[in-house]
Parts: sequence; C-alpha cells; structure tokens
Amino acid sequence: MTEIEQMLKSLKPFFIENSKIPVWLSKITPIDVWAYSFGIWVWCRGEMSEKTKRHETIHFQQQLELGFILHWILYALSWTAGYIRYGNGRDAYYNCMFEKEAHDWDGEEDYLQKRERYAWTKYIGRPVL
Ligand SMILES: [Zn+2]
Repeated sequence: MTEIEQMLKSLKPFFIENSKIPVWLSKITPIDVWAYSFGIWVWCRGEMSEKTKRHETIHFQQQLELGFILHWILYALSWTAGYIRYGNGRDAYYNCMFEKEAHDWDGEEDYLQKRERYAWTKYIGRPVL
C-alpha cells in the first residue's frame, strides 16, 4: 500500500454530536435516523458509539472512493431500485449496497484498516431479503 493510500484510509469525517439534523431528516425519510453522513460531516442525535462512528466512517470512505457526488447518485439509485423491488423505504434502505457493507462490518474493530477499496461493490445485486 502506498503512503497516499494509507493516508486516505485513515481519514475520518467530522463527527457532530447532539445535532437536530437527524431529527429533521427522520421526518422526511422512511427510517428513524440516528446518525447521518454527508460529505466530510456526520451528524448524530446524541453521542456516538464506536460502532456508529465506524458505520459512518465506512460511508465516508465510500464517498471518498466515488468523489462524493457519484456516491450520492448511486446511493439514490440503489435505494430507488430497492423501493421498486420491496415497495417500502425501510427495506430499500437495508438493501442499499452501501448500507449492506456498513451494517455487515460496523461491529468489526479493525475493519477500516483492513477494508479493501470499493468493498461495497461486492454487495451489488445481493439482496438481504
Ligand atoms: Zn448507514
């Protein structure tokens, strides 16, 4: 691994705790949002556990890999495909390829160090339902 790759891997987003943003988002999305990752920031309703930080850092790394904007577009497409398939937003959320990677690995302490670039691609077309 080159020095740049190592440096990118160790980058983390800014964590903002006790924020109202997840509360507002919960009103317009089908799930109860606890924490939300967008760009270089993560907003959380309360204090973040290590697991939540890891989950959101996985999303941050996914965004880095896709230059942020492409991640948002693919996330929306993946969610929409799930919505068409399952007919509800909650199942669409859990079947989004980016969420599947994050949920599968957020409990693993060293995942961010050992994670391969574009690991989320392994979840394309592998529904959990
Ligand atoms: Zn997530």
